[in-house]
Amino acid sequence: MAKIPTKWLISANKSFDTVRAFNELKTLDWNQGMYKLEEGDIVYIYLGKPIQKIRLKCKVVKANMATSDIDDRKYITGITDEELEEEFVESYGNSMRLTVLSEFVESDLFGAKALAEHGVRGQIRTPRKITEEVLDYIEQIDAEENTLKKFSKNRVIINELARVNTETILEDEKIDSEEVVGKEREILTKARVNQSRFRQKLLERYDGCAICGMNMSDLLVASHIKPWAESSAKEKTSVENGLLLCPNHDKLFDKGYIAFENDGSVLISSLISKENYDLLGIDEDMKIELTEANVPYIEYHRKNKHIW
Ligand SMILES: [Zn+2]
Repeated sequence: MAKIPTKWLISANKSFDTVRAFNELKTLDWNQGMYKLEEGDIVYIYLGKPIQKIRLKCKVVKANMATSDIDDRKYITGITDEELEEEFVESYGNSMRLTVLSEFVESDLFGAKALAEHGVRGQIRTPRKITEEVLDYIEQIDAEENTLKKFSKNRVIINELARVNTETILEDEKIDSEEVVGKEREILTKARVNQSRFRQKLLERYDGCAICGMNMSDLLVASHIKPWAESSAKEKTSVENGLLLCPNHDKLFDKGYIAFENDGSVLISSLISKENYDLLGIDEDMKIELTEANVPYIEYHRKNKHIW
C-alpha cells in the first residue's frame, strides 16, 4: 500500500512574494533545511503579517535536492539590484521542489486566530508536522474552500447553500464528480457522512422545527448552534450542538437575529421591527425546549452571534 503522505505546516519568508511566485511559476524550490520532508508530502504554507493565514497548499514533488535550478529571484522583495545579482538560486542548501495545489482565498477560517483555536500552538516558523487535531480542521476547511471555489460561478447562492446545509449538498455533487480521488474523496465522504448523521440524529430528536413545529422533513435544516466552522471535530457532530429548524427560523438564528436564553426563552434583535414579527413567524413569548447539554452551545451563540 502506498505511504500516506505526511502533512506539514510551514511559514513563508517575509521578504519573498510567495503567492505571486506560486501563481506565476506554479513550481518553486524551497529550502528544506534538515527537515525530513519526502516526495508526495503535503505542505500548507502560512503567510505571516499582515496576512496571517494559511494561503497555499503544495505538494512536494522532489525532496533533498542539493541545488536548485528554478530562478525565482525576481520575487524577492526589499532588496537592491546589486544584492539581487549576488543572490544565487543554488545557494539554498538542501531543497525541495513544491508544486502548488490550491490557494485559499475564500474564508478567514485559516487565519491565525482560528488556527490557534484548533490546536496550532505558538508561532509558525520552522516546518512542523501537523497534528491529528489540527489536520482534521485543516482538511475540512480545505475541502469546503475547494468546493466553494469550484462552484463559485454563483457565489452568493453557493455560500448560502454551504451555510444552510453545511457541506452536504455541495459535497454530494463533488464526491460524485470524477476528478475527486483518493484521500480527498475519503475526507469529503467523511464530512458528508458526519453531516447526514448529524441531521439524522436531529430528525430523531425533534418532530419538526424546534421553534414553530413545521414538519416537512425535506425542508428542515440541521442547524449548528455553535457554527460548524467554529466547532471542534467533536462539536461538529454532537447532536447537542444542533437544532432542527425550518428555513425561516434557521436563517434568523444563523444570522443572529434571534437567540435564546439558557431556559429557552427567545431573544429578538432590536433590528427587527415589530411589524415584521408576524411575517417572520416570531413573537416575544416563544420558548424552545433545551437539554442541559444544549446550554453551553446556546450560550456561545448568544454571546458571539446574537445581534442585540
Ligand atoms: Zn420554524
